[in-house]
Amino acid sequence: MLPPSWTPPSTPAFAPTPDPLTPARDITHEHFHAGDQIVVLKGVAGSELWGDAMRVVAPSWHTPTDEDGWRLRNADGGAQTYITAHPRYLVHLSGNCPDCLIYLRAMADHLLPKFTGHDDAVIDCGWYTTTALGQLVHIADARGGR
Ligand SMILES: [Zn+2]
Repeated sequence: MLPPSWTPPSTPAFAPTPDPLTPARDITHEHFHAGDQIVVLKGVAGSELWGDAMRVVAPSWHTPTDEDGWRLRNADGGAQTYITAHPRYLVHLSGNCPDCLIYLRAMADHLLPKFTGHDDAVIDCGWYTTTALGQLVHIADARGGR
C-alpha cells in the first residue's frame, strides 16, 4: 500500500462520480489567505483521497459562479500554472484547520466506500474542468446549477 499522496504517481483512471458535498459547502472567501497551501480534491488513490496541491496567490473573480475566488499557483500545472478557483473547491493542507478537516472527512466517508477493492488504483472522479481562460469549474457549477 502506498502512503497517502496529493500527487498521484500514475495517470488516473477516469470514473465520473457524483459529488454532492462540494457544491453544498459553506465556506467564506475570507477563510483563505495569500500564501496558504491548499489542495483541490480530484478523487481517490488506494484508500485515500488525492488532489492537486497548490498555493493561494491573490483574490480573483471567479467568472463561472460570478463570485469572489482565489488565484492559485500550481507548480506542476505547466501551461495552467495559474488558475482561478471558487473558495469551496479549496482545502487547507495544514491539517489543523477544523473547517477543512470536516469537509475532508465528509468527502472520505462519501467516496472511499465506493472504491473499496481498487487497491492502489488512482481514480479521477471527474469533478473539475479548467476553462480556456484559466478558470477552474466544478461540474455542478458548469451546469449552471445551484
Ligand atoms: Zn481551512
